[in-house]
Amino acid sequence: MTEIYDLIVIGAGPGGYVAAIRASQLGTKVAVVEKRATLGGVCLNEGCIPSKALLDSSEHFAVARERFANHGIEIDPPRLNLATMLARKDEVVKRLTDGVAYLFKKNKVRLFHGVARLKGPDGAGLQQVAFEPADQSEGQPVSESGQLLIAPKVLLATGSEAIAVPQIPFDGELVVSAKEALGFARVPEHLVVVGGGYIGLELGSVWRRLGSRVTVLEMLPELLPSMDRQAAAALQRALKKQGIEFRLGVRVTGLQRQSKSAVVQFEAGEDRGALECDRLLVSVGRRPALAGLGFDMLRGRILENGRVAVDADYQTSIPGIYAIGDLIDGPMLAHKASEEGAACVERMAGKATVVAYGCLPGVVYTWPEGASVGKTEEQLKDAALPYRVGKFNFLGNGRARAMDETEGFVKVLAHAETDQLLGVHIVGPRASDMIAEAVTALRCGSTAHGLGMQFHAHPTLSEAMKEAALDVHHEAVHA
Ligand code: FAD
Ligand code: NAD
Repeated sequence: MTEIYDLIVIGAGPGGYVAAIRASQLGTKVAVVEKRATLGGVCLNEGCIPSKALLDSSEHFAVARERFANHGIEIDPPRLNLATMLARKDEVVKRLTDGVAYLFKKNKVRLFHGVARLKGPDGAGLQQVAFEPADQSEGQPVSESGQLLIAPKVLLATGSEAIAVPQIPFDGELVVSAKEALGFARVPEHLVVVGGGYIGLELGSVWRRLGSRVTVLEMLPELLPSMDRQAAAALQRALKKQGIEFRLGVRVTGLQRQSKSAVVQFEAGEDRGALECDRLLVSVGRRPALAGLGFDMLRGRILENGRVAVDADYQTSIPGIYAIGDLIDGPMLAHKASEEGAACVERMAGKATVVAYGCLPGVVYTWPEGASVGKTEEQLKDAALPYRVGKFNFLGNGRARAMDETEGFVKVLAHAETDQLLGVHIVGPRASDMIAEAVTALRCGSTAHGLGMQFHAHPTLSEAMKEAALDVHHEAVHA
């Protein structure tokens, strides 16, 4: 049977599901094809949400164990019930993925389960999408496969998948990606993490807090290369204090498997080293998920970095085929995918929506958290832009003192002549929430002085933002 729609969205991650709902709100007849049994993509099923659920749980455990005494709370050492912690994480995921299914029904988005494949245009120039049963071993239900869906527009939102290190392919047991590291049934004795980026630091933190020895092997001489150097160094110091071991400038050369463990071999310049571990998390980045999509059609339309090339409307060079999210250029972040999804379908509907890429925040959900928006100090130096720096340490913030969370700072970068905000970088408690104010200020073209003049309720962590903005002109009061 063939069904005709205005728009077919392939993939129901934060890019695809937001695009589909928004398109439907705009009066578009929209179908979504998703190969997983549940909606929400990598983010809800095996990314943002389960990792944050475990980060929050493991933080409670670490705080109860190490910090309650400072607050005058005396308890027996807390015991870990890992099965309950993992079940809670799964329940959080289920509620949110069910929530997307509810939103699809509410917004009349038609959902098809199966692996979608582009079939090219029909005689009338409409795009055809076929879908096959998803991998039964993953327990995916199949709905009405064998059908052909037809629409003038197809939006590709198939996201990304973990990259392996050639010498140590994934086996799902010993050598794993984030997906498996979100569900280890017992706490590893020694977790070696290859790649000190977002996933390595977040999941390394989870298992360290739960009792693992954790060693991060990073290829570059510094962690988190896209972050402001001062912020990245502060975060590394904090994580080192928590017991995470770092080997920087290291190249993994091989793996020797033993019955229940493995020895990872690596080189650091002239030196060679080896580490025994019982789990190896490989988190060296992700690549666009294009396999099986019938993407031969798009050969020659892929950028050098493997991403799909699109124009300002998110249209590929094939008329009627669009792409968003992790598939296209830029940081692989859920909120970027969602903004692009909404902007893409709004532009299809004739609106002039644009995504404010210059104000895209990034957050590492370690403790303290690292959050940033706009330019780093290094980028300003490279661009030879005259700038001033304002910085305020959480040590001087009343609420941070009350919480006993004084590690870190807020750093504000502003143009030396116009005072316009250029970047904000935070390492500290709840940096993930605090960065929202900086995003708004940057987007609205605020000056550092303007940000420093705003009311900030007392006592709140956000007062550190005000003080850092005031410090750009040496006007901070509590510094
Ligand atoms: P995805 O979420 O990857 O969704 C794509 C969907 O398409 C999937 O459901 C897939 O099953 C489906 N699909 C693929 N091919 C086909 C096909 N042929 N037919 C049908 N369906 C198909 N980002 C953040 O912003 N904040 C975070 O805290 C964060 N934490 C993360 C933690 C981890 C461990 C990981 C791995 C990622 C994290 N990310 C985070 C990144 C975030 O998950 C991605 O940027 C985001 O999910 C990308 O959204 P997307 O819609 O482009 O693709
Ligand atoms: P990443 O790009 O964040 O970090 C990968 C790290 O691995 C880099 O530091 C890189 O230098 C290093 N590396 C690359 N090859 C290596 C090798 N052979 N040996 C040792 N180190 C090597 O990638 P990730 O941590 O896998 O995460 C993938 C993406 O998912 C992220 O880029 C991010 O977009 C997204 N993500 C976001 C969040 C968040 O927003 N909080 C959390 C998790 C994941």
